[in-house]
Amino acid sequence: LSVGVAKETLASEARVALTPAGVATLRKAGLGAVLVEAGAGAPSEFSDAAYKAAGAKLVERNDALNADIVLAVRPPPNHLVDKLKDRAVLVSHIQPAVNEGLVEALRERGVTTLAMDQIPRTLSRAQAFDTLSSMANIAGYRAVIEAANVFGRFFTGQITAAGKIPPAKVLVIGGGVAGLSAVGTAKNMGAIVRVFDTRAAVEEQAKSLGAEFLKVDIKESGDGAGGYAKEMSKEYQEAQLELFRQQAKDIDIIISTALIPGKKAPVLITKDMVESMKPGSVTVDLAAEAGGNVETTVPGEIWRSPNGVSCIGYTDLPSRLAAQSSSLYSNNITKFLLSMGPQTTKVKGEFLIDHEDQAVRGALVTESGKNMWPAPPLPPP
Ligand code: NAD
Repeated sequence: LSVGVAKETLASEARVALTPAGVATLRKAGLGAVLVEAGAGAPSEFSDAAYKAAGAKLVERNDALNADIVLAVRPPPNHLVDKLKDRAVLVSHIQPAVNEGLVEALRERGVTTLAMDQIPRTLSRAQAFDTLSSMANIAGYRAVIEAANVFGRFFTGQITAAGKIPPAKVLVIGGGVAGLSAVGTAKNMGAIVRVFDTRAAVEEQAKSLGAEFLKVDIKESGDGAGGYAKEMSKEYQEAQLELFRQQAKDIDIIISTALIPGKKAPVLITKDMVESMKPGSVTVDLAAEAGGNVETTVPGEIWRSPNGVSCIGYTDLPSRLAAQSSSLYSNNITKFLLSMGPQTTKVKGEFLIDHEDQAVRGALVTESGKNMWPAPPLPPP
């Protein structure tokens, strides 16, 4: 079997699905050939020479897409689907809920599609394949770096001969994977960090990273299905907004990551709160693509308020740390592939799409001309 990796087609996408280290792993596992489009790794600093040294064959795009198994980061545009060979296996982010046209094109072409974003995250064995967590971790880190880049002051407090400098105050809204990564990064840089989340479990996690946990005076559980958040009552939402209205005046940097699966992101920082922040303050909205937690977010851009607050709405945070993101993505995707490979089949170079394997079944979107998504829910633990 051959594996193909083409350069990502979206202009702003710097990641690559497989690094030279990933090539070496797959070659060792007995894959016949790893075909990499020349220049595919260049935006993430992986040279053609490094791919070649790892055992890849450098090819033109169409040849990479003509492999038996094709690996990608972004859901491929439909015109690339036509280039896949009959009965090809595609492993990529797919987001089937919002990419119906793509799923239909893949089904029609008879492609076996495995969506990295659909692997059940609560399955402990599948944590090694969890690209959503890998990318969220990077996005949280990079959000702090982007904020620090725009913020005109130190994060850490200092006493210098020229005067006393107070530490920056950072509020992280939503303490999931990205939020906790932002907390750790901002703490390491010396900021005072506060965290808010509707899920009670986040309190301990935030505190263990040295952050303060903010609460509203209403008893309501924020836990929804699968460890994710649910939508809160109107009364709770109002109390939450009041808390943020108070915080906005005091906080220098807000990093928001609040998402509710299948719903538009809740607006938690309103325009009047942005306008009440000190000049030079920064917001970074990781929910920008899902509608935004900050009312003034413009997806993909930095919007500056008349009172001097910078609202960052970048939607490509993992791609801004492309070498790191590609390395983790490549590790996740090779581990997933190998879980279906020799150790399962006991035959070097052979792979099995096993419907009994919950990670594989969860990821399966199309197979043999059939739409396989969504997978049946996992039995309760
Ligand atoms: P996410 O990206 O969907 O949401 C980010 C955070 O926003 C969540 O913590 C959520 O509670 C919070 N949020 C939602 N509405 C909010 C509101 N109104 N105000 C404040 N915060 C709000 O979540 P995620 O980071 O992908 O993961 C969420 C949970 O799932 C975490 O507990 C994570 O540990 C868990 N998870 C578990 C596994 C696993 O078991 N292997 C893998 C991945 C994630």
